[in-house]
Amino acid sequence: MIDKNILSRFSRQILMQDIGYEGMEKIRKSKIAIIGCGALGSTQAEILARAGVGKIKLIDRDYIDLSNLHRTHMAKEEDALNSLPKAIVCEKGIKEIDNSIEVETLIDDFDSTNAEKFLDNVDLIIDGTDNLETRFLINDISVKNNIPWIYAGVNSWYGNVMFIKPNVGPCLRCLIPENNNENQSCDIIPSIGTMTSLVSSFSSNLAVRYLAGNEVPYGILFVIDGKDFSIERIKVERNEKCPTCGLHNYEFLNKKEKRGVERICGSHAIEIRPEKFLNIDFYKKIKQIKNKFDVLTINRYSIRLQRNEMQIVLMNNGLAIIENEDDLNKAKELYNEIIKLLA
Ligand SMILES: [Zn+2]
Repeated sequence: MIDKNILSRFSRQILMQDIGYEGMEKIRKSKIAIIGCGALGSTQAEILARAGVGKIKLIDRDYIDLSNLHRTHMAKEEDALNSLPKAIVCEKGIKEIDNSIEVETLIDDFDSTNAEKFLDNVDLIIDGTDNLETRFLINDISVKNNIPWIYAGVNSWYGNVMFIKPNVGPCLRCLIPENNNENQSCDIIPSIGTMTSLVSSFSSNLAVRYLAGNEVPYGILFVIDGKDFSIERIKVERNEKCPTCGLHNYEFLNKKEKRGVERICGSHAIEIRPEKFLNIDFYKKIKQIKNKFDVLTINRYSIRLQRNEMQIVLMNNGLAIIENEDDLNKAKELYNEIIKLLA
């Protein structure tokens, strides 16, 4: 039973055909995961929180910067100036909309080391990512564990959305068998908030209808054209020889990922992921840090430090991004030095 406050909060939505009180109750009881909290993920998170989804899981390893603000919902200038993690910005935004929503956040890459555990027990997965590799991983888990997901992608004035009903309709790899452009996510893609919002809204609409208990069109690729204002429906067939849903070969889930030091493509930055997550209190050791580095920003979740040209953003779980550095060894040395100071 939904309590009275909820009933009045969603009174207009309950009037919607295909939702009603029953659908609203279903939406409220749902648990979803949004992969990525950037332009798409943050907007989907806002729309679906306002629509009343009861439990939302968020994952993103990145932090907000000024170049995100033109398309990232819930993010404010202050968040960018403070290098706040995107997942935390989303969580704060959701809580400000509706404090009773259960939100679980993870500041990390979404990869085979954490993906299956992260998606355990969710009713629906929403694609807020920006690359095919991550989508193939979502697709593997969706097919393996029978969890439906919504593929959503934007490039310039165009968007793609498809609802994937695993083992019934076609999966993403029935549509796109291989990643032929592995460097795609390294390119800086032209992007505008009107299109990311449009695609987020379209994908969230499928999500709401599904969560409210309606049959939604699966196996249809919706191609949204923001230049001539059209939406095309393309029927996708299931492929018997599809590596994922035909042969059940989950190659992205079975990939052995290494946690460690890695260049971030498309930028002069290096990411460092600790073997095990830490729980750092930056304020405790601030004196020692200030002796060795310029502290540019500090908050509960992240700290931005500078030495010479190099800047490092360190999250409180130990994940770090080192900017203006291409040398992996130098980055690792710097990281170890900071962790030692904070230990
Ligand atoms: Zn397939």
